[in-house]
Amino acid sequence: MRVLLVEDEKSMAEALQALLRMEKYETDVCADGITGGEALESGLYDLAVLDVMLPGKSGLEVIRQARQRGIRTPVLMLTARGELEDMVAGLDGGADDYMTKPFRAEELLARLRALGRRARGGADGSLSFGDIVLDTRTFTVRCTTSGQSVRLGEKEYRILEYFLSNQGQILRKEQLALKIWGYDSEAEYNKVEVYLTFTRKKLAFVGSEVEIKAVRGLGYELRYRHV
Ligand code: CA
Repeated sequence: MRVLLVEDEKSMAEALQALLRMEKYETDVCADGITGGEALESGLYDLAVLDVMLPGKSGLEVIRQARQRGIRTPVLMLTARGELEDMVAGLDGGADDYMTKPFRAEELLARLRALGRRARGGADGSLSFGDIVLDTRTFTVRCTTSGQSVRLGEKEYRILEYFLSNQGQILRKEQLALKIWGYDSEAEYNKVEVYLTFTRKKLAFVGSEVEIKAVRGLGYELRYRHV
């Protein structure tokens, strides 16, 4: 899971980053609302931890704008003690949860795990599109019309999970490279092509009508042939 941390207090940001890395979250930090907002709107993150009081643009503006632009990344807001108005405005603006500073590390991690589970799908841990259902616990994809299912490789799974979490969006090759491999470089671009081919083969194998289509010059999108 890739986490965006937007926090301007250096010591707090460093402590949180160390904590998140220890829990195996890949974590990027932004120290102001402008870069934080851009990062959130990149759609590259599975979760975001967003401070309210930030230079440039407040956390409340960041979340509101991101939601208006269709970004559904789960966001945990960090508010100062006693700032009930911030908490209410945050939740109204589209935050999924909030915590009041100071907080205990274990509680933050527990809340992030809960948000992560929600991000990955319904209560049964599945994501769906067209005639496919991706089971996020067994790493299998099932076609609802043929009833066939197949286990996916790790990269294939993450590719499909990324597409299913961003339905209706065209995903650029750079986004896929960064999201799946953590780097955005020529070498990774070639891997994207290779693993997209593997993933398409798995979709064909289960008899799905869902395709990963290249959109010339832009990237890739999921399409359902029967729609
Ligand atoms: Ca702050």
